[in-house]
Amino acid sequence: MPYAGKMVRQIFESGTISALRRCLIDWYERNRRDLPWRNSQDPYAIWVSEIMLQQTRVAVVIDRYQAFMTRFPTLVSLALAPEQDVLAQWSGLGYYRRARMLHKAAQLVAAQREGNLPVTSTELRLLPGIGAYTSAAIASIAHGEVVAVVDGNVERVLSRMAGWEVVSRTGATALRRKIEALAAQLVDPARPGDFNQALMELGATVCLPRNPQCLTCPISAVCKTRGEHKTPPRARMLSCEVGHALSVRTSHNTAKACCPSGREVLLEQRPASVTVMPGMWELPLLRNAAVPEEDLRMTVRHAIMQVNYYVRIRTVFEDDVQELAIAAGERRWVPLGEAAGMALTGLTRKVLSRARLFPAAPLDSITPLAGVGMRG
Ligand code: SF4
Repeated sequence: MPYAGKMVRQIFESGTISALRRCLIDWYERNRRDLPWRNSQDPYAIWVSEIMLQQTRVAVVIDRYQAFMTRFPTLVSLALAPEQDVLAQWSGLGYYRRARMLHKAAQLVAAQREGNLPVTSTELRLLPGIGAYTSAAIASIAHGEVVAVVDGNVERVLSRMAGWEVVSRTGATALRRKIEALAAQLVDPARPGDFNQALMELGATVCLPRNPQCLTCPISAVCKTRGEHKTPPRARMLSCEVGHALSVRTSHNTAKACCPSGREVLLEQRPASVTVMPGMWELPLLRNAAVPEEDLRMTVRHAIMQVNYYVRIRTVFEDDVQELAIAAGERRWVPLGEAAGMALTGLTRKVLSRARLFPAAPLDSITPLAGVGMRG
């Protein structure tokens, strides 16, 4: 069992806990957002949505989820797909390791369990990329296992409800354990999936990090904080300057239906050996981020984890690419219509969209890229 409820003393009376479960589930039934993954009890669909929702906003996930499920409607269809297709569907969601792990786990389940995901949270955790949170979400929502889900939203709601605060980073781990234990005490044995989703929904829509809506909160009567709680100061963002080459040419050989203009962009595939976004396609990296004003196409801010990248995009003619850009991986001239369907890094997609070289790719138009495989 991921969270041991006996690790902290019971901080709410059993009568209070029953009332809290009732209020919360009633509120959820009346107020829950209509999200595409909520219309399914299919463990595979729940799994995909939960992985996408980690570190990515719901508004961003909705379209991507629908496109992903259209392309890979079953676990087996995902398992059989080439990794580049999976990464292409994930393009723009970031944290690509999630997509690789999802794919790898689907392949294991297809090969060893005839495509059937394990049922219990304990067994689910044995799969690559599935931790305490995801296993508990799938098992409680799809199979009614009485196990608590603790994500960032639940952590905030329960901290405030119990009146717990953390003022230093070192105290965060101990607090997390207390919250997990409290969640295990509170989860409703009759409707664990709905209870877990209700608590997450409350954190996402009412008990917000800033300006929580306490006046409309269904559990305010038992909340010991009724407002914002103290949190440790956020880690400072670092900043870093880099440059990328935007090199576009017109090739009459490639003028065809997918790209009538015949325009091609030079892309480079990140080597399979790098730890960040291996195998993804991007604009070639410039040797020097200090771009002369006359060649500067745009500057883009792009945040990854704790780093703000200030990215200078330089217009580079085909003949100058070798001199100005570092050759780190395989390069290809790609028709613009084809590039939209490739496993591009989020930054590359952002730059090509802002440069109006392709429309913000409608994801249902993303198609597998024939003949392009992972290196290494
Ligand atoms: S009363 Fe306010 S702080 Fe407490 S759980 Fe509800 S929204 Fe959060």
